[in-house]
Order: sequence, then C-alpha cells, then structure tokens
Amino acid sequence: MSHEGLLVVVSGPSGAGKGTVLKRLKDSDDSIRFSISATTRTIRQGEKEGLNYFFKTRDEFKSMIEAGQLLEWVEYCGNYYGTPKEYIETTVKEGYDCLLEIEVEGAANVKKAYPDCVLIFILPPSFEELKRRIEKRATEEPEIVAKRLQRAREEMAYIENYDYVIVNDKIEDAVENLRSILKAEKLKLNRNRKMIEQFKH
Ligand code: 5GP
Repeated sequence: MSHEGLLVVVSGPSGAGKGTVLKRLKDSDDSIRFSISATTRTIRQGEKEGLNYFFKTRDEFKSMIEAGQLLEWVEYCGNYYGTPKEYIETTVKEGYDCLLEIEVEGAANVKKAYPDCVLIFILPPSFEELKRRIEKRATEEPEIVAKRLQRAREEMAYIENYDYVIVNDKIEDAVENLRSILKAEKLKLNRNRKMIEQFKH
C-alpha cells in the first residue's frame, strides 16, 4: 500500500458499546488492525492472551515501561494498561489503519505523540440508557455500577480533546458513521501531500 494508515483512537464510557462497533468495522474491512494493549489486570473468561491483551505481571509491565516499549500507559482502577509502540508504528507504515480502544488520559497522550491521529468518542444515546446498559451487563455489585457511572461522568470532561463523537443508538449506524469518518480523514489535504506534489511540476 502506498499510503500510511490512520492511527485511530476510540474512547467512551463502558456501556457505550465501543467493542462491538469496532469489531463490526474490523470484520468488514481488511485494512484494519487492532492495537493490543499490555495490562496487569487478571484475564476474564473468554479472553485470550495476545488477542484481547498481553497479560503481564506488574514487574513485567514495569520492565516494558523502562525499556521504552510503551507509547503511553495509565493506572486505571488499580491496574496498569499500556499501548505497545512498535506494533502500531509498523502497522501504520504498512498502510493499515490501526485502532486503539483506550481510556481518555491515554488518548490525550497518544494525540501528543502523534498529532495526526484521529480521536473518536463513542457515547450511548443518553445517560439513562448508559445506566441501563451498565446495570444489565452487571453481574456487578451496585457499588461497581455506581463507580462506573461516576467514571463515565469524569470521562466526559475529556471530550473536548476529541475530533468526532458517535452516538451508538443503532449499531449499524454507529459502524457506518465510523466508516465515514475514516474515509473522510483519508481525503484530507494534509494526508495527500505526496500525491499533490506531482501536479506542481
Ligand atoms: P478493561 O479492563 O475493561 O478491558 O479496560 C478498562 C479500560 O482501560 C477501558 O476504558 C479500556 O479502553 C482502557 N484501556 C485498555 N487498554 C489500554 C491502554 O493500552 N491504554 C490506556 N490508556 N487505556 C487502555
């Protein structure tokens, strides 16, 4: 592929349906790759090492930080999460669009390191609906539901950093909107400088 791919960062409260939207897009588009984060949290049922995350001990995670292998990392709800740098750099150079599903502080740090990246925030249709989704999903204690809702409110403070917002009411519409964003981003003048240059001689 002649073009560099896009670096796309997606955030949003838990219960917004980010994972489902991103997976639908990836399944329908061969040019998309997911970045796989490293984390110290315990593996959940149904998750796979190297597919959902690279599961690390705290010591292993610290070594990755010290070796400069992480583009960004945060402590979130008592665990570390970080984005391995090399994979996303190679992926984008090879022309694939690289999608990162990370929380708001990490997203801001990726933007600092790569100002050309695209930041997208996914929201549920309303706060009531968010509450309903979190409660429905919750095998979780009421305190955890309350904590997640509180966290969702806090994350809203970061929304000004983002380039686009997608409301995930109907999943197909959300996927289509995401697809449209990537398409339009690729047509931006700044991403097509090389092609334009040839017309100037
Ligand atoms: P979970 O434990 O539910 O998989 O993820 C918790 C939160 O961490 C989610 O908001 C997820 O997007 C975020 N997250 C996952 N990987 C990374 C990462 O590499 N960096 C940052 N900053 N956040 C991450």
